[in-house]
Amino acid sequence: MAHPVVSRRHFISAAFAGTAAAQTAPSEDHQFDEPAQKIQLCDDADVIVCGAGPAGIAAAITAARAGARTRLFEVHGCLGGVWTAGLLTYIFDFDKPGLTRELTRRLDERDARRNKNPSRFVYEPEEMKVLLEVMCLEAGVKTQLHTRVSAAFRENGRLRTIVTESKSGRQAWRAPVFIDATGDGDLGAQAGCGWDVGQAKDCPCQPLTMNALAVVRDVKALTSFISFNGTDEFNGPGGHLTCVEAFKAELKRAGVEASYGHPTIFPVRDDLVMLMLNHEYGIKPWDAAAISEATMRSRAEVFRLMRALRKLGGPWEGLQIASTAEQIGIRDGRRIHGRYTMTRDDLIKGARQEDAVARVTFGVDIHADSKETNKSKPINNGNFKMRPYDIPLRALIAKDVDGLMMAGRCISGDFIAHASYRVTGNAVAMGEAAGATAALAALSKRLPHEVAWSESVEKLTKIGLRA
Ligand SMILES: Cc1cc2nc3c(=O)[nH]c(=O)nc-3n(C[C@H](O)[C@H](O)[C@H](O)COP(=O)(O)OP(=O)(O)OC[C@H]3O[C@@H](n4cnc5c(N)ncnc54)[C@H](O)[C@@H]3O)c2cc1C
Repeated sequence: MAHPVVSRRHFISAAFAGTAAAQTAPSEDHQFDEPAQKIQLCDDADVIVCGAGPAGIAAAITAARAGARTRLFEVHGCLGGVWTAGLLTYIFDFDKPGLTRELTRRLDERDARRNKNPSRFVYEPEEMKVLLEVMCLEAGVKTQLHTRVSAAFRENGRLRTIVTESKSGRQAWRAPVFIDATGDGDLGAQAGCGWDVGQAKDCPCQPLTMNALAVVRDVKALTSFISFNGTDEFNGPGGHLTCVEAFKAELKRAGVEASYGHPTIFPVRDDLVMLMLNHEYGIKPWDAAAISEATMRSRAEVFRLMRALRKLGGPWEGLQIASTAEQIGIRDGRRIHGRYTMTRDDLIKGARQEDAVARVTFGVDIHADSKETNKSKPINNGNFKMRPYDIPLRALIAKDVDGLMMAGRCISGDFIAHASYRVTGNAVAMGEAAGATAALAALSKRLPHEVAWSESVEKLTKIGLRA
């Protein structure tokens, strides 16, 4: 996909978008020629991070601490992505050096973490929102919420300018290095990078899930249905799958069935729990109409199941939804082609890399891609034994466009590898690595692939993120 090369002059501040409606008429082939216009240009950043999920906040905080003037754009009204707008409440693969440890410590200082296993634990999403804001402010990150990155422009093969849309209209932003942390790889795609999604060219993809917070009257009366409640075991008595089966039996007794074959209740705090109940199949993450329908369908399902349970009375009496996620959870998005692509083989071998930014210990987690699969096998682990493997820095550097890095779900990997590295501990570690490398590249007028990983480690050590 080629993109127009736009000169700097084109953007120079003159008029804002939308100040005057141009006279136009739609063409007969249902295409609309959007008139070109001059928009405000801002050129004050060394590093621009797009998307403020676990990967984006880590990238922005690290780049700013490393001395780069850093801007962060997020389409939602809070920082944290799936952690907050998605009401996740559970963290996997977090026991790593760097920002993961700092986040863990600072969640503890707020008494906002349960199940004290350093690798997997429960956190409170509202506390997470505020903590991330504090950390971005402390680091000096210039954050703009409610702002969508909507276009990207290259000059001589290098990404130079992005355009955002918000209540301030369309605005253009220039920087020497950009980081795509949009989860869905929006920026990489806009910049013209090659990408993959799901199992094949056009999916099938992992399903979407709408998480919800609920309050219960007596959390102790529900103990046998709540997973990860004092234990992080998956199997055996009191383990996750035992709780899931007990909860499914209750749903059946109430005359309903959840569309996710492993409906789960997570503990959050006291009488607050998180419900993960549904699966939405066949939705492409860039199809706004399909995502909207899935959002409304899954929100309705959450309320339908909650009402059916409440009618059972007993421990379910008083159950009520406190909040549904603003953003339906998207597991599978675009995977932007990088200078290295992680594959299933890396997981089988337990690949070691010289430029390892993180070691992944979380296994393959493939949710059913259809209602039929969901009935027989809601989750599968790829049918092989995964060995802990390294994510190389090269998988975070775009192959087709210079000056662009990726962090989080949208890095370069195949469907199977993505099903393992995508969890949030790895997203934070990737963000940290991308942030340090982008800052070094920008401040020394190099491209990210010209920065050796050893330099980034040295920088991370200097700013206290490595021992
Ligand atoms: C239902 C579900 C359950 C999961 N369970 C777990 C679990 O238990 N534990 C775990 O650790 N992980 C879990 N995961 C995986 C994990 O949450 C994600 O893979 C992780 O959030 C990846 O982080 P990220 O920063 O790459 O993406 P995201 O969290 O998706 O963040 C991307 C951010 O970019 C923003 N954005 C997107 N497009 C644009 C744009 N064009 N302009 C501006 N901003 C944009 C989004 O609003 C969002 O804030 C789960 C995921 C889902 C969906």
